[in-house]
Parts: sequence; structure tokens; C-alpha cells
Amino acid sequence: MKKFTGGIALISAVVISLAPLTFIEPASAVEKATTKISKPAISKYQRYIYRYQNGVMQRKNVDGKFVSVDTRKESAFDPIRVAAYNAVMQAISGKNSSNLNVKYVIRPNYPATLSAAIKSTFDKTVKQFGDYFPAGTPVTVIMVTEKDKDFIQKELPLIVDQNATGDVWQFASRYLTKSEWENSSASGGGSASFFRGPEQSKGGFYLSHTASYATMDTYWPEVAPHEFTHILQGVFVKDLSFNSQDEYQKKLPQHYVEGSANTLGHILAYPNLGWYSDDADLTIKRYSNGVKRWKPVNTPANMVDLLVATEKGTPDQAFEASYSIGQLFYEWLIGTYGFDKFITLIKNIGPTNSFDENMKTTYGITKAQAYEKAAPYMLRAWKKATK
Ligand SMILES: [Zn+2]
Repeated sequence: MKKFTGGIALISAVVISLAPLTFIEPASAVEKATTKISKPAISKYQRYIYRYQNGVMQRKNVDGKFVSVDTRKESAFDPIRVAAYNAVMQAISGKNSSNLNVKYVIRPNYPATLSAAIKSTFDKTVKQFGDYFPAGTPVTVIMVTEKDKDFIQKELPLIVDQNATGDVWQFASRYLTKSEWENSSASGGGSASFFRGPEQSKGGFYLSHTASYATMDTYWPEVAPHEFTHILQGVFVKDLSFNSQDEYQKKLPQHYVEGSANTLGHILAYPNLGWYSDDADLTIKRYSNGVKRWKPVNTPANMVDLLVATEKGTPDQAFEASYSIGQLFYEWLIGTYGFDKFITLIKNIGPTNSFDENMKTTYGITKAQAYEKAAPYMLRAWKKATK
């Protein structure tokens, strides 16, 4: 959601279906019988397929078997990616905070396997990151489907108003017909944020919408921790006010909002480096056609241009590209300087006047220098993901 809703309200960030997907060849159904190591299956919705068995996440292979481990070594992945994953994992290891009080409003027609999977991931993330929030901070998680028109129009606004969520029925009504659901990428979507200013005692919210007939084949584990990241971003700016979208994005560039949510969302969603890397790549690939139609992505200088262009959420191409371009930038930033420094960056949004000043204060380099330093990694990772 990219509309700016004025001084008192908040900016709500949305993971939403992109345009019809044309990004990857379907998983080969003719995998050779001689293949020794089974590859992961990809659904007709172009996603990896996961399930939970006794609370353990498993991923489906092309041979139909679900596995719960990944046997690849760290040396199989880019050192920056390895460092980013490990930095976040180390920062949250052993954390078990109860600072956040999460209340779930799960509508009866929301698919139970999906709500259970989302709740399980979200509850885990909340405990890992609760220390960054004041004790007793409320968070409301609402899950709705196309069967909730009345609820969405009458009851939802009493929990979280449309300034924050956008027009939820406009999204959910797309799921009334299965073809529209499939055309909108068959994933559902959501929005999340932390209330700012006088409303901050309401804490954070995460609204999720999907089709009542959605299954685990359409489950994308990245979404719940992505949305949680928006709540985490929000708690550090809850006392700030902005008079315009430009003022907001001077401190919180679009690539920061969606990109760092994508980086953390992917890292936090998966129990091992390999699955994180695979899904991070698949996401880059999914966004890549849209980015390439907009601007060239061939050189490090192109990457720098894209970082500059995705500081703003307009035009639409910038908004969409901010997810993937930002995902790689913040992966580089966390992989290079660690996770504590990234938290310092979030904390410094308030005390500094711009993202550039924040970069200098937090990392000792200008924004432009950071872009230049990050670009070679970003291009390397982009090429690997889109080859
Ligand atoms: Zn988002």
C-alpha cells in the first residue's frame, strides 16, 4: 500500500501479489530416475511446497518426499549470504521474550492449515524479537477471506482502520472467483505496521487475506516474518510524524521498507541456509522481469541507479522493484556489517535527518558509498538468481 495517509496515520506496507507471474519454468515432471539427489518440487503456483509435521517444517522434493534438512555446505553459497543468515540467527538464538501480547482474530473460513502455519511462524518471531519492544506491547493479527465481506466492512474498521490497511475488501473480493485468485498469483496478501503518534498504544497489527479455498500449495513462509518486520520497523518510529510521503521517504526509503522486510522475512522463514537461499533466489527471479522491463540490470552502475530509483515508491515500477533490489542491498548490509548495526540503523532513523545522514552515523560511509560497495554483490546475486 503506498498511499500516504497524512500526519496522524501510518504507512502500511503490503506484500501483495505482483502482476501475473511468468517467472520460471515449471518444475520438471520428467526428472530422471537416475538423479541421486532429489531436487525441490515447485508448485503450479511457482513456489516451493512446505508442510509442518509435529511442528517441524518440511519441504517437498520432486520425488514426492518431504524432507526436513538440507545437506548443502556453507561453501555452496555466497559468503555475504551466509554471513547475513548467520548474523540474524545468532542475534535471535536463545531469545524468548514475552514483551509482545499477540491477539489473533482468525475468521472461520480462513484455511486452518494456513492459519496454523502463519501463527506458528509469527509466534516464534514475536518471541525472538520481543526484546526490541516495550513490555506489554499489543499486536493484533487478523486473518480474513473473500467470505468476510460483512466483517471486513463493519467490524474490521473497529480493530484497525482503512487508513492503515487499505481497502481490504478490494483485495479479498478478488478471490470470489478462482480465475481471479490465480491471476493475482494465488498467494493472498497482507499489510502490517505499528501505530504512530497518539495511536501508538494500539501497538502493531498484521492483516492477512487469502482465499477460503487456498491450500498449503500456496503457502509462502516468507510473508508472516516479512509483515512482522514492518511492525519491528514501526516501533522505532512510533514517536515521529511526517507531513508528506517525501518527508517520510527521505528517512525511510522505499527500498528500506520493503527490501529489509524481504531480507529478514526470508531469513526468518526458514530453518536452514539452503532453503533461505533458494527462496530468496526464487523471489528475485519472480520480480526480475518487472525490474528489467523498467531499467537495465547489467552492471554495478545499473544497480546503483536502481537503488537511487527505489528510494521512492513511485512510479509503480519503483515500488515493485524496491522489494527485490532492497532485498539484496540489506542482505549485503547485514552480511557485511552484522545485525546489531542494522538495528542501530533502524534506531537512528529518528535522531538523524535523512537516510544519508543515518548511513554516515551508523556505518561511517555515505549512502552513495554504500550503494557502490553493495552493487557488485547485488549484481552477482541477481545474475545467479535469474540465470
Ligand atoms: Zn511489505
